[in-house]
Amino acid sequence: MHSALTGLACSRCAERYDADRVQGLCRCGSPLLARYDLAAVRSAVDPARIASRPPDLWRYAELLPVRAAAHRVSLGEGMTPLLPLPRLGARYGVPGLLVKDEGALPTGSFKARGAAVGVSRARELGIRALALPTNGNAGGAWASYAARAGLAATVVMPVDAPPITRAECVLAGADLYLVRGVIADAGRMVHRAAVAHGWFEAATLKEPYRVEGKKTMGLELIEQLGWRVPDVIVYPTGGGVGLIGIAKALAELRELGWIDDRLPRLVVAQAAGCAPIVTAFAAGAEDAAPWPDPHTVAYGLNVAAPLGARQVLAALRDTDGTAVAVTDADALAAQADCARAEGLLVCPEGGAALDAVRQLRATGWLNPDDEVVVLNTGTGLKYPEVLCIDPPVLNPDDDLPAPP
Ligand SMILES: *Cc1c(COP(=O)(O)O)cnc(C)c1O
Ligand SMILES: [Zn+2]
Repeated sequence: MHSALTGLACSRCAERYDADRVQGLCRCGSPLLARYDLAAVRSAVDPARIASRPPDLWRYAELLPVRAAAHRVSLGEGMTPLLPLPRLGARYGVPGLLVKDEGALPTGSFKARGAAVGVSRARELGIRALALPTNGNAGGAWASYAARAGLAATVVMPVDAPPITRAECVLAGADLYLVRGVIADAGRMVHRAAVAHGWFEAATLKEPYRVEGKKTMGLELIEQLGWRVPDVIVYPTGGGVGLIGIAKALAELRELGWIDDRLPRLVVAQAAGCAPIVTAFAAGAEDAAPWPDPHTVAYGLNVAAPLGARQVLAALRDTDGTAVAVTDADALAAQADCARAEGLLVCPEGGAALDAVRQLRATGWLNPDDEVVVLNTGTGLKYPEVLCIDPPVLNPDDDLPAPP
């Protein structure tokens, strides 16, 4: 069970970097990606061996960057359920609809995957203090895993980010600052402070290993389907790291020969109030222009200038995928429909991804017999302020009304 990590390579100019030193972005300003000796992985392990390992994301150790098992920082992350959604699927006209429910992870979102691997690797490289900008869930996850690892964490998030994530950070002992601004403002503040105080900057894609953790979403869902790809994967996209991770998982599995050459069509769902990738994809552009005045209740999607936009757009083009914008009203309606039809309370971001399925079936882009996997990136329980319900309040002697 040894990592087959060989180094880091720039996602744009292919320049190589030593992975056993602390690295940030490439000199050209683009994200670095981990590279593995896949031939060595192929001779060391196979899907049957992996199936016999514990049900957490460390079962893919050869394809992860953490070299020593002793450096793993774990809260029990991984192997989230892949659930059929037969009633909601029937309503949308896509009976083969499935959801991978990342709300079941520690800290209630898939950000736990990136934090588990990123914090483990930071500890392995000797980092003692880290800092990151966040829209909330990454802050909660990194603060929690940093506490577990005994590292110091500083988190900066917009004052509008989901309030529960503030408590997660503070209770985990992180230094939390709220900024009257958006995540890009938080990112600039973290960068200035990291330079001034020598902190490690753990911002999305500036730090090369978070995406490796998110990659396990893709590895898991393929394993859960019996090492077979679905027709379509729909991902609620903010910074796009999860989608880049899933595309990387597919590429590595294909090179390993553990899946055949067919790729699923990858679909980006974004909020109508912040849809830079949807706009760029529709225009056939290679990169996304920053979105002016971003706003959405699906706060994880509130990323106006995603650093990984180029890679996301390339993944959409390479897989005959597409990108869809969803209004907040439609995302919340899908959230409510899923809870009622299936008993699963997805996050607003997950609601946006579900509504993208409805839209794509309505336009005919999805076929009735497509097998479609939607990523629900977090639990709806982390967003109590968007759940508008109004049950009757009774006195103890009141009689319950007869059923309608
Ligand atoms: C961060 C986040 C997203 C967006 O993730 P990216 O991989 O950065 O695009 C989506 N949903 C939730 C709940 C999030 O926390
Ligand atoms: Zn480069």
